[in-house]
Amino acid sequence: MDQQRVNTVSISADETDPREPSSRCDRCGKVGTIARARRHSEPPLVLRYCAECWPTAESELEMLQQEEQDRWRRSIRGRSSAGEKVTQPAPWTTTSRSWHDVLRFLDLIRRPPKGGRAPTSEDLASIASEIRATASEMAGDMPPAVADFIGRNSPPAA
Ligand SMILES: [Zn+2]
Repeated sequence: MDQQRVNTVSISADETDPREPSSRCDRCGKVGTIARARRHSEPPLVLRYCAECWPTAESELEMLQQEEQDRWRRSIRGRSSAGEKVTQPAPWTTTSRSWHDVLRFLDLIRRPPKGGRAPTSEDLASIASEIRATASEMAGDMPPAVADFIGRNSPPAA
């Protein structure tokens, strides 16, 4: 795999608040969305999802991106002589206030990529405080696994 990895110790790349109480979910039509997927294409595409739909929508988007990347790689390898201009698929960024993503993130840092460094206790403490800072904005109650992570990685109160 020559896939480039961007290692960032942060929960989301898009810092804007994805909560839109009057927007409709692009999957089920429910009013009140907590997640946003943005395609950096021309024109840009923005999709919004409610808390219930987001985990499924997110994995569908990931599958779609994977397919597009695969197709693109195959086309530069096999058909670059055809004169057809192959453009790289436009990237997506997503942001959410879903505990599902926090759990996924915690799972990811538990198993760092091969060759990558494991997070230090300072990293973990800063992640814990980042999660604590946005906890009140999240959709639904904090899952026990997240509360446990915060409990284990927060510095004792001064
Ligand atoms: Zn929905």
